[in-house]
Amino acid sequence: MQLSDKYPFLTNYFTQALTVSNRALPQSILFYGNDLDSQYILANEIARLLNCKEDKNDNCECLNCRWINEGTHPAVLTISRADNKPEDDDSKTVISIRQSQMIKEMLVSASEFHRVFIFCDRNDNGEICGLNPMNFQAETANSLLKIIEEPQAGVTFIFLTRYIDDVLPTIVSRSQCFFVPERIINNQYNYSNINGIFTDYFEFERKDVFDISQKLQELTKEIPTETILEEIQNYMLALLKSNPHNINIIEHIKIIEDAKYQAKLNLKPINIFDDICLKIIK
Ligand SMILES: [Zn+2]
Repeated sequence: MQLSDKYPFLTNYFTQALTVSNRALPQSILFYGNDLDSQYILANEIARLLNCKEDKNDNCECLNCRWINEGTHPAVLTISRADNKPEDDDSKTVISIRQSQMIKEMLVSASEFHRVFIFCDRNDNGEICGLNPMNFQAETANSLLKIIEEPQAGVTFIFLTRYIDDVLPTIVSRSQCFFVPERIINNQYNYSNINGIFTDYFEFERKDVFDISQKLQELTKEIPTETILEEIQNYMLALLKSNPHNINIIEHIKIIEDAKYQAKLNLKPINIFDDICLKIIK
């Protein structure tokens, strides 16, 4: 499958930013959401779009694309507690000040490539995890601020995290932040239970809000609130796939994400559904 199929909205956004002018691309990007694998693939895809010397196609075989697909590109570096540590750095649990210094030293000399630094965490099993105040501490984050805010051609920083609040506000405020929906890679989006109730929701009118919310609540007699919300999100993900230009859908997926959290806290279903319907149906 092609990456542009998996990430229609975001890939589209970045491809456009890159085609118009390199300056349109933010120097610092922050991805957030539960799906760290998708964030990491997406970060590498941006690095590939920035470095490809040919037509930027998903199956391009140019040297830059090959290197990035193999994870061996000399200018596309994952920065984590386990990746790209200087030799004299014996820190094991954090992204260190030494790593931050190493990046600064690299930036002193020019490069023929577009440098991309992907900041994340990696657990003992080698899986990509998100930044948080423990693995990306304030001292290290602050030591990066200067290079992040200083506009420099050919350098992009990408930060991966579960929750925006887990990254220092000084980094967040200097970054363009994107929510990456979970399971965006998944091709099978089941929404059979909400079919006919919530499908085509973008055609609903404001006056229908409480009626629809009521119908969703009635469903909870048979299926758990969380399953209903999951299906609504599945429907939106399917919708996003065929409407990659619709920014609102990403917003809506985020609203359902928050509602799932409220469901975990045992808020009353009717309040949850009223809330999402009020926010989504305009
Ligand atoms: Zn290429």
